Amino acid sequence: EAITVQELAQRMAEKGADLVKALFNMGMMVTVNQTIDQDTAELLVEEFGHNLQRVSEADVDIVSTEDVDAEETLEPRPPVVTIMGHVDHGKTSLLDALRGTDVTAGEAGGITQHIGAYQITTKDKQKITFLDTPGHEAFTEMRARGANVTDIVILVVAADDGLMPQTIEAINHTKAAGVPMIVAINKIDKPEANAKKIRERLLEHEIVVEAMSGDVQDVEVSAKTKQGLDTLLEAIANQAELLELKANPDRAAEATVIEAQLDKGKGPLATVLVTRGTLKRGDIFVVGTQSGRVRALLDDKGRQIKEAGPSMPVEVLGLGGVPNAGDQLTVVENEQRAREVSAYRTEKANDKRTTSVPANFENMFSALKSSVIEYPVVVKADVQGSVEAINSALNRLSNDDIKVRVLHSGVGAITESDVTLAAATGAPIIGFNVRPNAKARQQMEKDKVRLMYHDVIYHLTEEITKELIGELGPER
Ligand code: GDP
Repeated sequence: EAITVQELAQRMAEKGADLVKALFNMGMMVTVNQTIDQDTAELLVEEFGHNLQRVSEADVDIVSTEDVDAEETLEPRPPVVTIMGHVDHGKTSLLDALRGTDVTAGEAGGITQHIGAYQITTKDKQKITFLDTPGHEAFTEMRARGANVTDIVILVVAADDGLMPQTIEAINHTKAAGVPMIVAINKIDKPEANAKKIRERLLEHEIVVEAMSGDVQDVEVSAKTKQGLDTLLEAIANQAELLELKANPDRAAEATVIEAQLDKGKGPLATVLVTRGTLKRGDIFVVGTQSGRVRALLDDKGRQIKEAGPSMPVEVLGLGGVPNAGDQLTVVENEQRAREVSAYRTEKANDKRTTSVPANFENMFSALKSSVIEYPVVVKADVQGSVEAINSALNRLSNDDIKVRVLHSGVGAITESDVTLAAATGAPIIGFNVRPNAKARQQMEKDKVRLMYHDVIYHLTEEITKELIGELGPER
């Protein structure tokens, strides 16, 4: 089912241009005459503070993330941390080293299982959850699917190497997501390590670390000698405290799928991260479009547990099929309800396939309370000189009402990582004398990411200007 922006505006008694602006802020570029799908329409309706009349009632309390838990039900929950950085800078080594600091590791003789995430308890009795699929691609892909599980990003930079292309991608993906960052300057044990140089180079990317009187925590570590790990754990605890992470543990559980697979012996398995409530053995749930009943819960040491609370990663047995990473698991009251919900979700999934709207409407910039419209773009060009010229030309197009925001820019072909970032934010990709590689092209088609290919800067700014005027509408 689709409705044009104009029709929706009339029903809501709002101006069409205001809806277009709101959509724009959600990362969608549409005109008043274009159609949007039901999900998007609902988002808009809520955005404007109108009441929602649903066509199908089956899913109401399932999809509404609006059913917010009352303040007094909230309790502190552990932070969820993702590690990012350039290849070989030590992401995996650091994850292993941090895992080794778990004071409960020795108890009960559990064997380390790789279930996509693990939780440690520090010597200060603080719990921290780490996603052990490091990297910014996985991070942004999850976000693109609406799963914002990461609270804190640790950016690993090897002190003997410096800022490399994937370091910069990681920085930009983290910034676009608005997730706070801690810089871990790794391999500090190496004689050629130069932490000072790293801090200076970070300045060029507007990351001012504490050692340079900024507010981004930076810690020198060695995943090899374990130097600095305690300081890093403290930095995480500090950041978590600032974030005041809380969830209601006493309700039907909701969780996000981190990883899933088909096991020959155990059947479909999924590692989920509980986002709120407590997941218990025997719970009936819907995950994606599948339903199931929790047959067993296993922690990251392979031990059977009875229940899992907020921020706890747990492997779930008893699924009807293999879900996708990023799918939401929702506990429901009975099997009848589970069937209704999964039928409704299947229907919606089918609908989505036929609409032309990007699958993701996440407003990456909702934190920005101002009325300035952000126009996000990803820029790739053949040479550094062009990248710089384009960035400054785009800057000049910004005014009080609209701001062109370059999420990421770099030299070289358009890659999957660029597409993931663009898809998550609804940004077009500007290709200046460069085109997407084969995989990136496929992904662009799938995610409906737009390519603006140009070889003359003037033509590029002309196209963007037209877009900006169109988006602002006649009133501005
Ligand atoms: P990833 O690709 O970012 O996951 O990096 P890895 O964790 O696989 O590490 C890449 C290489 O750097 C491996 O050979 C590690 O042994 C080495 N390495 C990682 N951390 C350190 C460190 O703190 N000091 C030293 N000397 N080597 C390290």
